[in-house]
Amino acid sequence: MSIDIFNERESDVRSYCRSFPAVFTTARGAILWDENGRSWIDFLAGAGALNYGHNPREIRSKLIEHLESDAICHGLDLHTATKRRFLETFERVVLAPRNMPHKVQFTGPTGANAVEAALKIARKATGRAGVVAFMGGFHGMSLGALAVTSNAESRAGGGVSLGDVTFAPFPGGPTSHIDSLAWIRMLCEDSHSGTGLPAAIIVEPVQAEGGVNVAPVEWLRGLRALCDEYAIVLIMDEIQTGCGRTGPFLAAEHADVMADVITLSKSISGYGLPMSLVLMRPELDLWKPAEHNGTFRGNQMAFVAGTAALELFEALDVPALVDSAGLVVSDFVSKEILPLDPGIALRGIGLMWGIDMSGTRLDATTLAADIARRCYHAGLVIERCGRGDSVLKVLPPLTIATEELVLGLSILRDAIAAEMAVEKKP
Ligand code: PLP
Repeated sequence: MSIDIFNERESDVRSYCRSFPAVFTTARGAILWDENGRSWIDFLAGAGALNYGHNPREIRSKLIEHLESDAICHGLDLHTATKRRFLETFERVVLAPRNMPHKVQFTGPTGANAVEAALKIARKATGRAGVVAFMGGFHGMSLGALAVTSNAESRAGGGVSLGDVTFAPFPGGPTSHIDSLAWIRMLCEDSHSGTGLPAAIIVEPVQAEGGVNVAPVEWLRGLRALCDEYAIVLIMDEIQTGCGRTGPFLAAEHADVMADVITLSKSISGYGLPMSLVLMRPELDLWKPAEHNGTFRGNQMAFVAGTAALELFEALDVPALVDSAGLVVSDFVSKEILPLDPGIALRGIGLMWGIDMSGTRLDATTLAADIARRCYHAGLVIERCGRGDSVLKVLPPLTIATEELVLGLSILRDAIAAEMAVEKKP
């Protein structure tokens, strides 16, 4: 089947479709089909937007009901019965059980827009401009979010200077040998640090695009304490880690840390529908009406799906589900993939794992790309992340059947073994 129209007319900015060039038509759970009837196991899951898989029946039926009832489908930020149901469910399932006083702001539908709002809130509340972000961090592509994103290639695309941000080493992954808390403390205290006190520190509890680097629990607690000590706003970007991806609804719950501002997106709608939100402590809700406006804030269909997704989070006991699926991944990789080469490393938590090829004595960027390509030809969609895209990212739907999970991992093992054999040849 032809892909000419994409090549001729769609902008060169397209990316995922270059790695997975099939023309997809249908999908259910963790399986994708193309227009020739070929199927793939999906370890990409909409880059984390499909925690409940493709077209989950429990959510789909609510969407169909909504469409057939002539309910409001676009409501700006008007009060709607649909939004009330979402907020009431969010309060019951997420906020109340965690004693969270946070207020909810619906931003534009992208994760990046939630990050923009979070940064604005911190700057407005403190009257300071500087932000500390982390090496390896990814927060989105609009200019404010890009300024706190470390990847040089992404930053170059901005075309302007991306200021008011200081990058600190992240404790998981390649910069983990540096004591970043002491370093940030120095930034705050030393009159010659060159930065002054920041408004905010923005952090992913697990760096996702940065290579699945997990922040240690004690470090996250130390970061919280440091923010308290210096009245810095702690922003936890849970856009990829939230909604149960690592087990609990928020990944920072592993450390029992509550941020002042939390960004959520991706799987909050549970169906891949666009929606993002910011949670902020009430004293930070200093917005004037319309100060962070947008036509598509609070997508009504996403409210319907998001309400059903929160109900599913409870009904499925997602933390337990993720624990057992995560064990399947770590067991399989430890027993069947790590022994293939002493340079392969596994990092992750919950159902978010990275298999890092950078320690093999091969060109890890080419190796990981070749492995992902081989997986694609064998029926598995898997993406790469991290420095030089050298980490294979295992990010299946949380609801994936164990047989599908093991089959996908087996395809991955075979591809790694085959590519290592090819690339080790002189
Ligand atoms: N923050 C994190 C942690 C992300 O993983 C992403 C996207 O991958 C974003 C922000 C940006 O979200 P979006 O692509 O919806 O703008």
